[in-house]
Amino acid sequence: TKDDFRGFFMRNAFVILTVAAVIIGIIMGFALRPYKMSYREMKFFSFPGELLMRMLQMLVLPLLVSSLITGMAALDGRASGKMGLRAVLYYTTTTVIAVFIGIVMVLIIHPGQGSKDEFTNQQQVEQVNAADAFLDLIRNMFPPNLVEACTKQFKTQYAKRIVHVKMTVNDTIFTLNGSEITREEMIPVPGAVNGVNALGLVVFSICFGLIISSMGEQGRPLKDFFDCLNEAIMRLVAIIMWYAPIGILFLIAGKIVEMDDISSMGRQLAMYTVTVICGLLIHALFVLPTLYFLVTRKNPFVFIGGLLQALITALGTSSSSATLPITFKCLEENNKVDKRVTRFVLPVGATINMDGTALYEALAAIFIAQVNNYNLDFGQILTISITATAASIGAAGIPQAGLVTMVIVLTSVGLPTDDISLIIAVDWLLDRLRTMTNVLGDSIGAGIVEHLSRHELQKKDPEVGNSVVEE
Ligand code: ASP
Repeated sequence: TKDDFRGFFMRNAFVILTVAAVIIGIIMGFALRPYKMSYREMKFFSFPGELLMRMLQMLVLPLLVSSLITGMAALDGRASGKMGLRAVLYYTTTTVIAVFIGIVMVLIIHPGQGSKDEFTNQQQVEQVNAADAFLDLIRNMFPPNLVEACTKQFKTQYAKRIVHVKMTVNDTIFTLNGSEITREEMIPVPGAVNGVNALGLVVFSICFGLIISSMGEQGRPLKDFFDCLNEAIMRLVAIIMWYAPIGILFLIAGKIVEMDDISSMGRQLAMYTVTVICGLLIHALFVLPTLYFLVTRKNPFVFIGGLLQALITALGTSSSSATLPITFKCLEENNKVDKRVTRFVLPVGATINMDGTALYEALAAIFIAQVNNYNLDFGQILTISITATAASIGAAGIPQAGLVTMVIVLTSVGLPTDDISLIIAVDWLLDRLRTMTNVLGDSIGAGIVEHLSRHELQKKDPEVGNSVVEE
């Protein structure tokens, strides 16, 4: 009846609107493709999407810091230690499984056969030394200047590259070079989130929260302050969520209007795309749900259903850190995960736990070896799995960060880093799909850690714990 329908719509409004946005976005994108928009028209057209990206990114910094600090301050030292250990165990296990799937898929399907001649669209990417990149990863954990860590990316010797493209992402400089638009972009240093050194802030916030928790009554004002900040930010998120479907619609439509013609894609690249998608699907729809079921004995697909809006936002934005505010909302409101868990597991996960990226990096590196007719021995494959894990930790949750940290994986086994350009043409799509997998991995992690920590969580924090139930 009409009332049932209304009730159903009101309860599922966000999901319905978001799914509708994706469908309309795809249809609109394909419908507008024949018009061959100019660069400026394209910028206008994607504007509503760009705004969504900006709004979400605006919230990430205060959300990340306040949720981690209050998350830590709400638990006593022992409880947060145990929870932290479980989270790290979960991150490591799932990342290793993801890398394994990536390697097995690419070895079985063997998408890269033959030569490089098939590829066009070569570009130069500057050489990065793997050791430098590792040191940067650790260096960024300890930002010397906290204010600076909130406002700018750290520059290193390899911070710039020139990319020739037809269209672009935000915040990049454009110059006209002949008939082609050249984009000069900063290569984000491992751990840098669009102008924010997220890794450094995560490390600092965790330590700061722990200290506040150990201070007892004396730490109260700070704890209340960050609690209140966190709550206020989440209310802003609730408002932005109403705009999200519009933003997602234009992000997706804009991308479809702008993408290269798929029919001209070479066979190897097509096979490669299929291989990555299969790997991600296995991880996202089989491995993670199974793990969730084994630990919690609950239906994983009900849990995933509650995350739909976050997953679609990840698809639209290709950024797990921009999606973070929505992931919080979905987990806490739809899936009723304890805030003390989400506040720790989600921001840390969005910064370091990237299953999709890890799977992707291992797979892509071996694909590049195959294209170069380069035979990898077991030791080299092992090296690739270790560096792919490190590279996924180092990758920031921003669009195409995984492509940049792949340089670490390639140099570790002596593969040509220039060959990243071979796969750049399909990265816009693969990036979105691995971002969805990354967000799913973090969220399922929150569900699993909550279940494993249920004994510690029974000692309810008077404010934080109960507020979940009240809502
Ligand atoms: N875009 C991905 C994310 O935000 C990172 C990557 O490029 O793999 O999770």
